[in-house]
Amino acid sequence: MADGNAECNIKVLCRFRPLNNSEITRGDKFIPTFPGEDTVIFGGRPYVFDKVFPTNTTQEQVYNTCAKQIVKDVLGGYNGTIFAYGQTSSGKTHTMEVQYIVVLNNSQWNGIIPRIAEDIFEHIFAMDENLEFHIKVSYFEIYMDKIRDLLDAADTNPTLSVNVCCVAPHVNLRLAHAQGCTERFVTSPEEVMDVIDEGKANRHVAVTNMNEHSSRSHSIFLINIKQENVETEQKLSGKLYLVDLAGSEKVSKTGAEGSLSALGNVISALAEGTKSHVPYRDSKMTRILQDSLGGNCRTTMFICCSPSSYNDVETKSTLMFGQRAK
Ligand code: ADP
Ligand code: MG
Repeated sequence: MADGNAECNIKVLCRFRPLNNSEITRGDKFIPTFPGEDTVIFGGRPYVFDKVFPTNTTQEQVYNTCAKQIVKDVLGGYNGTIFAYGQTSSGKTHTMEVQYIVVLNNSQWNGIIPRIAEDIFEHIFAMDENLEFHIKVSYFEIYMDKIRDLLDAADTNPTLSVNVCCVAPHVNLRLAHAQGCTERFVTSPEEVMDVIDEGKANRHVAVTNMNEHSSRSHSIFLINIKQENVETEQKLSGKLYLVDLAGSEKVSKTGAEGSLSALGNVISALAEGTKSHVPYRDSKMTRILQDSLGGNCRTTMFICCSPSSYNDVETKSTLMFGQRAK
């Protein structure tokens, strides 16, 4: 994959999960074919991405191809965002997080977030000892267009808002952030995963139907890395948003559909290079992510797909969404 082009730091990657047991039992057909590294044929039509991952791709292969470089870039002072887009049960959480067992040390199930957690600290421990690091994480979700802090068990701050402050008026640079969200300092990959567990536990407590909830909410994990050279006092910071999006299937009245189409519009405007008209302000999510999308930022979008004939309409619309970003 090409790198270093500031105009086009958006990568769109497509991943197909295998047929699951109930799809096999029902006799669903396996639709996609994979003629090359960047192409999938679905329903007779080719869709081209920066990379296509067929069903047998391992978590490690996905990480090494797409996320590993972003960790290096964030440690080098860039911002980045990794998204997973797709209908419910298409493999978003599998790709971003970890399934079944929360274990570090290269469990084959580990998705992107635990691998990033390990990688960051591995890099840091190998670096110049004059560098001092401060790593903070936040974990929140956007549900019904409201931001909820997943690290605040008591949910004491229900009025979280997107705060847009003008930090540098002369360059017209605006920084939005989810104001009031808890930030936790972390000093090891284990602590990162503990924070994730804590956030997930809080998320479960407030929710009656977790499957329905997670299909309608966006969950956002933010890793913020600041470093300072104690000799030269030179400072560098970068942050990385890891976003498990709401299910892309048409669900009305959730607010999720609106923010997904706002995201699609932002990504396709960035991909076209029409930067003066990027509609960041159309949703809370795109406002929060504004300084970590496009430009010099590293943006990666996973397009997660089911291979089953049963889901073919949704899969086509998911593939089309991904094509808009190209
Ligand atoms: P989503 O988050 O999009 O709703 P999940 O990540 O929860 O979907 O995936 C749905 C199911 O499919 C889970 O049981 C998950 O373990 C399984 N799955 C998803 N992707 C893969 C894959 N690439 N290989 C094997 N199983 C997968
Ligand atoms: Mg999920």
